[in-house]
Amino acid sequence: MNGLSRRRLIGAGLAATGTALVTGGSAGPHRRPATVPAASTDPVAAPATSPPPAPSPTATALPAQERPVFTLSEYRRLVPGPAFPGNAVALTIDDGPHPTWTPKVLRLLERYHVPALFCLIGNQVLGHETVARDIVAAGHQVANHTWSHPGKIAHLAQDRVQQEIDRAQNKIYDATGKLPAIFRSPGGAVSPAVFAAAAQARMLPINWTNDPRDWTRPGTRSITDRLLAARPGQILLCHDGGGDRAQTCAALETVIPALQSRGYQFVVLS
Ligand SMILES: [Zn+2]
Repeated sequence: MNGLSRRRLIGAGLAATGTALVTGGSAGPHRRPATVPAASTDPVAAPATSPPPAPSPTATALPAQERPVFTLSEYRRLVPGPAFPGNAVALTIDDGPHPTWTPKVLRLLERYHVPALFCLIGNQVLGHETVARDIVAAGHQVANHTWSHPGKIAHLAQDRVQQEIDRAQNKIYDATGKLPAIFRSPGGAVSPAVFAAAAQARMLPINWTNDPRDWTRPGTRSITDRLLAARPGQILLCHDGGGDRAQTCAALETVIPALQSRGYQFVVLS
């Protein structure tokens, strides 16, 4: 068992309260993104080559949520900031980065000047670090979508969830220099352990409002129709990983300009 695992096991009971002090100060080779102050807002730069700043001994986990965020208004209630425009929608893109599909999606978003939240799987960042960097360099945001996308994450013990989250967090930070503040659970599955682990890593769990089930490849028309049913304030879900995403790309090619012509404004969760 490595140091990270030991620490997590020790801290698991306390972390469940969502208010536990993060144990700090112990020497060890592992980074502890959970203790790094908040998500970075620094300009996109070269990938991190040195460990994050030393944790503050007073850094704490976030309060554990009891349900994920589903809409923009729910998000804004939890994360202070200017109100979203009344016609705002947010586009989230899961399961990448992928060397084929992510660049296609990025080109599409660039053409229409649409920002998005990319929910990255740690073991997909592995080997595709430049794709992950391209996402951030294009001005998009990144979220933590676990290390290995466990299908039954809601049935895992908190220390296992924590390992999934922390390993992905380290990898995303190493590759992009960004420390996600948003956690997207695989399949949107949640449990008290998932909420506690996300809070320990100082992330807010966010699901979605509009799911066109593009990952099942139901046909471009089906994905398009479902996304066109979007309403202001919704969080939309699409995928750039996990398989052939040609239907998703084709649908977005129609949906993005259509929603824009309807007056919708794509926003980022920040
Ligand atoms: Zn996923």
